[in-house]
Amino acid sequence: ERILSVQVTPLVGEPAGAVVVLHDTTELRRLENLRRDFVANVSHELKTPLSTIKANAETLLLGAVDDKVHRTKFLEGIGAQSERLEALIQDMLTLARIESAQQPFDIASVLVAQAVASCLLDYRPRAEAKEIALTTVEPAGSPNLKVRADRNGLQVILSNLVDNAIKYTPSGGQVRIAWESVAVNDVAMVRIEVADTGNGIPEEKLARVFERFYRIDEARSRELGGTGLGLSIVKHLTQSFGGDVAVTSRPNEGAVFVVTLPGA
Ligand code: ADP
Repeated sequence: ERILSVQVTPLVGEPAGAVVVLHDTTELRRLENLRRDFVANVSHELKTPLSTIKANAETLLLGAVDDKVHRTKFLEGIGAQSERLEALIQDMLTLARIESAQQPFDIASVLVAQAVASCLLDYRPRAEAKEIALTTVEPAGSPNLKVRADRNGLQVILSNLVDNAIKYTPSGGQVRIAWESVAVNDVAMVRIEVADTGNGIPEEKLARVFERFYRIDEARSRELGGTGLGLSIVKHLTQSFGGDVAVTSRPNEGAVFVVTLPGA
């Protein structure tokens, strides 16, 4: 439903005539709804770990503190939920910072191979713990491919995609990072692909995974330490750098996330 406010301005000195200005308030309303949903989602996301922390503290005070096994269990719960709150606040701050453009990006030529190597350094232990093979495919003949991006921003993009790929791939699977130069409408771009052999994403949900707080399986994402914000951060960052991100997936064949960034 579209709501239009109509403003009629008679043209002075002209014979019979009028200018009709149509103000479309649909977009404003959509933004207002988005804001309201976001606040509701954030409150919900913050409340869940907080209630566990509160309940555990209460149970400890009621006597569980005297029993070593119970004490450890409840304290571990408090620790884990605090970490979740911390991750959530960190992701929300990252999103807010990108959106408000408060902190200007430091756009430079960044070597993709170097950014990928640094990401692998961080994630190799986690992949090994799950027996996931983490491999890279460098572009043949152009090892020094560069993108125009903010160095830290590119790290955040790669980390979020690799983190998800490892999280949503069962033990024994594979995660592959490949990159190559491509021409998009005659403009030199670099395509970075993060592919996994996990459960994949159902086709009807593909378009929604970049939405804030959208998760295919909320309980599973939570259990794995997800905040539901990683992919919206990836989308915002790639678009801020003049690129974009897309995903394809076949059920039980894994997901393929493709980031395209301007070449340098
Ligand atoms: P989360 O913190 O929950 O991982 P994201 O924004 O990073 O949030 O991702 C949103 C949702 O998209 C995830 O909850 C998950 O359901 C789905 N998803 C993301 N990456 C993958 C992947 N590689 N394989 C399967 N599902 C994925």
